Amino acid sequence: MLSFPTQTISAGAIQVNGTLDPDDKVWQEGDARPRGAGVVVAGRLSVAGHGRYYFSGTLTGDVTGECRRCLTEVVTSQTTEVHVLYADALHVDEEDPDVLPLGQGRGGTEVDLRPAVRQEWLLDIPAFVECSPDCRGLCPDCGANLNQGAHVCTRKSHE
Ligand SMILES: [Zn+2]
Ligand SMILES: [Zn+2]
Repeated sequence: MLSFPTQTISAGAIQVNGTLDPDDKVWQEGDARPRGAGVVVAGRLSVAGHGRYYFSGTLTGDVTGECRRCLTEVVTSQTTEVHVLYADALHVDEEDPDVLPLGQGRGGTEVDLRPAVRQEWLLDIPAFVECSPDCRGLCPDCGANLNQGAHVCTRKSHE
């Protein structure tokens, strides 16, 4: 579970231990969603002054990318540190985009960690991945994967 009524947080800091499912509605078209079980969210959610709530924790999960050299699918384990400040309507600072507004849930006002988890997860995904530090990439002439042993290029020899 990743949504918490503010009343619950006010009663005492919460140890968050939840998972953002790869099928959750918060993910959008084109997002690099986590593989398998999803993003594991672990941390602490507490009151940070009047009408303010602070979450500090870690996101862990696996993400799929493509090796920039040989285009093979690569699964990378990702760990992302997250620090988010939420504020209610009275205490939100319009000038400060780092302070997120609270959501409305069944239990009234609540902190919904999911949008921030999605955002931080996506921001931390490496732009380039490599299947190995010494990936040989693809043959520029025929596109064969040069990691799969000695390559005698048929394309080139026929030219
Ligand atoms: Zn590669
Ligand atoms: Zn070749």
